[in-house]
This record gives sequence, structure tokens and C-alpha cells, in this order.
Amino acid sequence: MAAGTTRAFSALKDRPYADVLVIGGGINGLATFRDLAMQGVDVALVDQSDFVSGASAASSHMIHGGIRYLENGEFRLVHEAVTERNALLRIAPHYVRPLQTTIPIFSTFSGVLSAPLRFLRHGGGKHRERGAALIKIGLVIYDSFSRGGGRVPRHTFRGRKRSLTELPALNPDVKYTATYWDASLHDPERLAIDVLRDGRAAGGDRARAANYTAAVGAQDGRVVLRDTVTGEEVPFAASVVVNASGPWTDLTNSALGDPTRYMGGTKGSHIVLDNPELFAATGGRELFFENADGRIVLIYPLKGRVLVGTTDLEHDMGDPIVCTEAEVDYFIDLIGQVLPRISVDRSQIVYRFSGVRPLPGHGDLAPGFVSRDYRVESAPLEGGDATVLSLVGGKWTTFRASAEHLADRVLDLLARPRHRSTKNVPIGGGNGYPTTERARQQWISRHADGLPHARVATLLDRYGTVAAAVIEAIVDDADDAALTHAPAYSTAELRHLAAGEDVVHLDDLLLRRTSIGFVGEATDAAVREIAEAVAPVLGWDARRVAAEARRGLEQVHAADPTWAEASASSR
Ligand SMILES: Cc1cc2nc3c(=O)[nH]c(=O)nc-3n(C[C@H](O)[C@H](O)[C@H](O)COP(=O)(O)OP(=O)(O)OC[C@H]3O[C@@H](n4cnc5c(N)ncnc54)[C@H](O)[C@@H]3O)c2cc1C
Repeated sequence: MAAGTTRAFSALKDRPYADVLVIGGGINGLATFRDLAMQGVDVALVDQSDFVSGASAASSHMIHGGIRYLENGEFRLVHEAVTERNALLRIAPHYVRPLQTTIPIFSTFSGVLSAPLRFLRHGGGKHRERGAALIKIGLVIYDSFSRGGGRVPRHTFRGRKRSLTELPALNPDVKYTATYWDASLHDPERLAIDVLRDGRAAGGDRARAANYTAAVGAQDGRVVLRDTVTGEEVPFAASVVVNASGPWTDLTNSALGDPTRYMGGTKGSHIVLDNPELFAATGGRELFFENADGRIVLIYPLKGRVLVGTTDLEHDMGDPIVCTEAEVDYFIDLIGQVLPRISVDRSQIVYRFSGVRPLPGHGDLAPGFVSRDYRVESAPLEGGDATVLSLVGGKWTTFRASAEHLADRVLDLLARPRHRSTKNVPIGGGNGYPTTERARQQWISRHADGLPHARVATLLDRYGTVAAAVIEAIVDDADDAALTHAPAYSTAELRHLAAGEDVVHLDDLLLRRTSIGFVGEATDAAVREIAEAVAPVLGWDARRVAAEARRGLEQVHAADPTWAEASASSR
């Protein structure tokens, strides 16, 4: 058993009460934890699995105003999302960066992107394609929401000739391209760990968080918590329980004795391709376009690979959350429509991932048109005086605002004041992050401590200013060496993450503390090598190393329904 779990669960067991218990360590739960800790509230958080392993690990990596939500008339949400996007560019510049986004348009008055501006439709709910004119109006509105934020440039429109000069691999039938700016979220999982670290730093012993700890029931007005590694249980008392369990919100309420029907999540999948030609064809931009069925698809260069997503399919939480072969066919077909000269096939897929959006229940409304806004529901906890606040909805983009909203509701219930807003508080490694080339070089020189500058630059890109602690750990570890099978990482770096970032299982490290799984470097050999490298700090013996290596591979391929069979036949 990892030392980290023992410590985190023990801290809850030793003092089984707090003012607030947050259930769910996705980005919304973690941000609420951070906000409350900053107000001096005694807060505890649990996640049944690893932190940031649910919907928050399945995103399209965009921090976006959500231009297409304009079509649903969601002006409040788009305005808030654009404002939050601009704020995150400022307070989390290490992971949130401006992203140039291009929409290829194939006609003037109809077109490839039908999503924006459904609200302009006069009658008829039938899907109709939208062309350049309507996209232009949408982008003007979008820009107007950005006014005053000053964080990203305004949109531009190009005709066919210039579009093909800028992006020569585009389908030559293109008539226009519209280019605007949103933001990319390079490392969602690492940003979430920063949020967690900030909360703990602000609250000290009064901000406790344990992964692999599930809320499994209610007993005498307390929530029963179970260590999912050992099976040990403890009833935990809190005045307010925040149910931030994303797509599992109804299931959590059921476990607490109050079956609700708030949620109607839809599944979305992505594939990650190792295809240098496709990578080059994007020109460093996200290509954002609409399929004939009205779904929005993106092709997006990230970490030397190309991310392609996403689908939007009704999902029952009892079913496995996987990226099916039909979804893969759909993605490959779409790439062919937009970039027809580039050859793409299954052998180039290095990683698949899927997740369920925590959307509100939506009856017959098509998934793409369901509101992406959030709300908070309140109910008493069975058998006691505590109140349960359930978050319904909530995107990555708006996590700071939705957490502030939830925290305000909690503070009202506790009759406690808000001491500060999180609006302008830098997050984790965004604190003191050098944003000019000159400041960056100075930071690198100041912190190199004998390491090559190129390596320090990589660590700064990977961790923001939190890299200072990673560098210290590397310098102090006499046995540091680049991994043979995943050379972008080193043994001391991984040991530092394993010891200090709540790593319980190897897949926590492969998928959420590093990008090794995402870029397709979690091969059999690499996984084994990494398990051996971190074994000393996690107290793993040879048997545990073998078990973790096996589990690590399974988890990396968990969203690929073909993997188990293929790997069994190749052994
Ligand atoms: C395919 C897809 C693409 C997306 N793309 C984007 C995007 O580009 N930009 C954007 O802004 N948003 C995007 N989103 C939305 C965004 O990712 C989610 O809305 C957001 O991450 C939800 O976070 P959350 O914390 O509410 O839920 P989650 O991240 O799901 O966290 C809930 C946590 O609760 C835990 N849990 C559940 N039950 C229990 C229990 N009983 N006890 C303890 N723990 C429990 C789970 O293990 C989980 O970790 C996307 C979502 C999907 C699925």
C-alpha cells in the first residue's frame, strides 16, 4: 500500500469531522476545496479514485468561451466563460495559453459550422448548416464579450486563396476560413494538482484531501467514507456536504440515501495520433469544424501529437466509458473530409480516452444542444442536520467561477464571511511564472543549479514555477538518470512526483502526473521501468511492482476496447 494513501485516509480517520466535506476530486471539487481553504474553513475532500480521473481527465483541452453555446442563447455562460478564459490566461499562464482556432467554411450562406447562432433561426428545430455570414456574426458577438479583457486578438476572415496559402493541406473546396482565439489547457491534470496543492497550503491541517476514498453511505447524519484500497470505513461528520461528483452526482446522492435525477451526462471520446504530417498540416492551430450531423469536431496539435475529438453520445453510467471502433471510424472519416491529402489510419493512434460530461438531465433534447451552464441543488442529509449541495454541470473553463459560487453557498450556510476572492490569485506554478522571453531566461539561469538549461526549460514548461522544487529533488538525487524507455522523464523527477503528489497506483503517474500515457510512451518496457524507479519511495516490493505494471498498462488502455484482446494474442 502506498504511504500516501495511508497518510491521507488516516488524517480523516483521526479527526472524523470538518465544517465541509467535498465529495469528488475533479476540477470542480478541487477548486471548491481550494476556495474554502482560502477562507479559513475546515474542509475535507475525498475522491473514490485518483484525483482528476473522471470527466476532468477527458476534456478537449480547451479553455474556451464556447462560441457554439451562442446558438443555444446561453449568453450568460459565454460571457462568464470568456471572462474566466481571460483570467486563467493571467493566473495560470503555465498551462493556459492563447490558442489560434480556425474554422474551415465551405459555403457563404449555409456552411460547415452550423452551431453558432441557432438563436437566430426562425422556426424549425431541424439541423441546417451555417455559412460564412452567420459565423461572422457569431464571432463579432464573441469578440465583443472579450472586449476589455485584452488577452487574445480579435478574429479574422480569409478567402479561399489566402486560406489555402496559410493551410495548404485544407480541402481545396474551402471557400473561407474564420480564425479566432481561445485558449488551450495543455495539462489539465497537472493544473488540478496545482489547485489541490494551493488548497492544502492555504488550509494546513484544516484542509485535508484523500484520493481512493469513496463516500459510500450515510449513517446517523454522517457520511460513511471507505478507503478503496484497504476497504476500511469511517463515518465522517460535516455541517455541509458538497457533492461535486460530476457525472456520478445522482449515484452519490443515492448512496447518501437521496436518489436524485439531476444528471443526463453524454459520453465524449478522443484519439491521439502520432502523425507528423497531420501535425504539420494544422500549422500549430486548432481546426474546429462541424460534421454534417451537426457535431463539432476538433483537430488539435498537442505535445507533438494530434488530438482529435470529440463525440457527444447519450450514456448510462452503468456502462463502460470507452472509445468505440465506430467513434474511431467517425474521427478518421472527418479528418479525411477536412484534410483529404493526409493519410490517417488506426496504426497511428497512440492513446484513446473517453469521459462523461456532467450535464443536466435533458429529456429529448439532442446532446449537442444541452446547456453547458451549471446550477447548485440543496437537500438535507438523511438522519441529521447537514445540508448536501449538489453541483449540476460545470466546465473546466468556468471552474474557478463555479467553485466560488459553490463556496459562497457553503459560507452562507456556515454564516461565515468571504475573506478573499480567488479571481486574481495565481494558481500553483503560475505564481511568478515568467511570461516574457527575457524573464524566462533569467528564471532558468537562476534555478539551473548545475542542470543543463534546456532541461530546466523543459521542467519550467512542464510544472511552471513549481519546477523549482522538482529541480531541487533532481539535484539532491545522486541516482538520477533519464529513463531508457521514456527519455523525456528522469528517475528522480518521477520519484519526486510519486513521493509528493498522492500517487497510489502507477497509472496515477502515467496518466495524471505526467504525459507519458497521453503521448503513447507507456509501453510494456517503459511501464516496468517506471514502476521499478518509483518502488523505493512508494515501498513496493517485486510483487507489487509487477502488479502495478500490469494494472498501469490496463489503465492506459482502459478506453480502448480492442486492447485486451490484441495484447493477449501478442503474448
Ligand atoms: C469529452 C469531453 C470533452 C470536454 N471538453 C472540455 C473542454 O474542452 N473545455 C471545458 O471547459 N470543458 C470540457 N469538458 C467538460 C469538463 O471536462 C467537465 O465538465 C469537468 O471536468 C467536470 O469536472 P467535475 O469536477 O465536476 O467532475 P469530474 O471530473 O468527473 O469529477 C468527479 C469526481 O468525483 C469522484 N466521485 C464520484 N463518485 C464519488 C463518490 N461516491 N465518492 C468519492 N468520489 C466520487 C470521481 O471519481 C471523479 O473524480 C469536457 C468533458 C468531456 C467528457
